[in-house]
Amino acid sequence: MDISIVVPVYNEQDNVDAVYSALKVALQAMGCSYEIVMVDDGSTDESYKKLTLLASADAALKVIRFRRNFGQTAAMSAGFDYAKGDIIIPLDGDLQNDPADIPRLVAKIHEGYDVVSGWRRSRKDTFITRKIPSLLANALISRLTGVHLHDYGCTLKAYRSEVLDGINLYGEMHRFVPALACQFGAKVAELPVNHFPRLHGVSKYGISRTFRVILDLITVKFLMAYSTKPIQLFGKWGIYTILAGFGTGAMTLYMKIFEHLSMNRNPLLILTAFLLFMGAQFIVLGLLGELNVRTYFESQRKPIYAVKDGINLD
Ligand code: UDP
Ligand code: MG
Repeated sequence: MDISIVVPVYNEQDNVDAVYSALKVALQAMGCSYEIVMVDDGSTDESYKKLTLLASADAALKVIRFRRNFGQTAAMSAGFDYAKGDIIIPLDGDLQNDPADIPRLVAKIHEGYDVVSGWRRSRKDTFITRKIPSLLANALISRLTGVHLHDYGCTLKAYRSEVLDGINLYGEMHRFVPALACQFGAKVAELPVNHFPRLHGVSKYGISRTFRVILDLITVKFLMAYSTKPIQLFGKWGIYTILAGFGTGAMTLYMKIFEHLSMNRNPLLILTAFLLFMGAQFIVLGLLGELNVRTYFESQRKPIYAVKDGINLD
């Protein structure tokens, strides 16, 4: 199988038919083997009925139906898990992405990239609640992850399937896949893609998504930098805090001995106790983290590295 398309669908009854036909047109023109995996994320409208009808006439359309609404990341994850293609391409089920962009994404993959991320250059969404937060979020994500993309939020991306193998998604994390993949040495490119306003149905998100994305970004940043060595992060801060505690402790003593200030009425004494206590906590937290890392990697026999090729290995 050459290409798997993955489409999350949540209450898109007026869009599924059009998305399906547009995908068919684009894929048939490419002349390769393909499948379309539509994941119904617990829709409460007629979406699933429409998908059933479409799938009964076309074996290349695979439909997964969730028991309830688990969210877009879960829907995409289910699609990725099922998908059998060498190249996996997710796109929105509301026709805001353009299936006609698929051949260009695939061509870019064939140039040697592992991930090609769509960039909605002229994005058709509201300015204040969507474009501004997205601008800030993209700048922040690019800076913190070191993978510079203009548009992390675009669902339309293309992945070489092996890139997705080692990546598990939680929260709102589907958007971070390029950054996570890059951590394993994937080559990432960006390609401007079309974007259309939503014609039918309503968006499932509001401004609150920004906060969820930022919280996920903290997780991603931590995982990227310290997932195999938490003591390095917490221990570092533990040492700084303990050193600061010794500093304020010495000052308290100095004031007591040379300036004859009472220690128990000196706020620095409280700060000292606080800093030493916090420092110890940081180090213990780091040690607990180390235990978790071992459980995580060793219980799943997960390596902490990713091998690309080998020579003369049996
Ligand atoms: N979606 C989903 N589960 C959800 C929310 C959204 O599967 O809980 C799907 C939705 O049907 C659409 C895509 O994710 O295909 C993007 O959602 P939406 O268009 O609402 O987001 P926006 O384009 O406004 O950012
Ligand atoms: Mg949309």
